[in-house]
Amino acid sequence: MPIAFTVTYAVFAFILGSVIGSFLNVVILRTPEKMSIVTEPSHCFSCGHRLAWYDMFPIFSYIFLRGRCRYCGEKFSPRYMVVELITAVIYCLSYLVFAVFQPADWWKIAFSAVMFPVLIVLSMIDIDRFEIPYWCSAVMAVLGIAAIFVFPSEIVWYERLIAMGVILVLFAVLVLIGGMGGGDMQLMIGASLLLGYRVFAGLLIGILFGAIYGSIKKLRDSKAEKQLTEQIRDIAEQWYKNQLDRGVGYVADERSDVIVGSISDGAPDIEWEFLDEKVWVGLPDKSELSRMLRQNITDEREGGFKIFISGADVKKVKYSRRMVFGPFLAVGIAVSWFVGAQIVDWYTNLF
Ligand SMILES: [Zn+2]
Repeated sequence: MPIAFTVTYAVFAFILGSVIGSFLNVVILRTPEKMSIVTEPSHCFSCGHRLAWYDMFPIFSYIFLRGRCRYCGEKFSPRYMVVELITAVIYCLSYLVFAVFQPADWWKIAFSAVMFPVLIVLSMIDIDRFEIPYWCSAVMAVLGIAAIFVFPSEIVWYERLIAMGVILVLFAVLVLIGGMGGGDMQLMIGASLLLGYRVFAGLLIGILFGAIYGSIKKLRDSKAEKQLTEQIRDIAEQWYKNQLDRGVGYVADERSDVIVGSISDGAPDIEWEFLDEKVWVGLPDKSELSRMLRQNITDEREGGFKIFISGADVKKVKYSRRMVFGPFLAVGIAVSWFVGAQIVDWYTNLF
């Protein structure tokens, strides 16, 4: 293809990507709130002024308006432009990888055009809300099933199923150990059908990046985590002492139990279903502990804690802030989609 065409197509892919990215911003913002994506016009969150098309022109509006609202001057988060930019670059890259660097494969481009927006949306929603929307994983699964028929020779169907089986077992362990959630598992099930054995390269990349980020985050959060741990321990001790004094419900001598809880969206909650009622004499005053936690912990957004009780004592409290894995898994899936085969080839050639 003449170079002029290639450049024109690449620029077109970039612009199309930025427009899609601009739509994704709306999806990211409105999906969790169950707001309508199409009917409500976009407006400034600060002054409520309706935004015109030239205020929302992808990437460029942000640059020209220096990231501020034209009407009230309020700063917009650079995140909107980042999402537009990422989508634009990835659309452009999809075109280059699947139509220029190799004989054109329009199916691969079509799959990319659907898959990448889903990966971007789920990453941002995971960062915001610590959950991957079910519909995102469902779209990945549909793409995975479609891949069985669209790319039958690339990876044989049973290899895709085997990859899915291994991912299922692997994630059952990862979710149990902690760190990964059910949403991560649902996402990777679809990805395993889509990528076949290449999904393992993606998973490895995701875990690697996630681990690097996780250790940086651990350092950054350690002070706040320590403080929260102290706070929860104080509350738990006070509550448990009261339990013992009133003889309401306490752990029998030489037995122990763990109270598991979490803070989501700023509200602490106990997961009482994990309580081992056999070791308790009487039953703990559940609502009292929840009430005390909610009253005293108001500034922490997302995290999980465990209260270890042994006989008459609160032995230990562990608190850690929640960490997202979705965005890292998404990066792993993306890399694997582009160059997973090369990575696996390179790896198997080492031996
Ligand atoms: Zn405004």
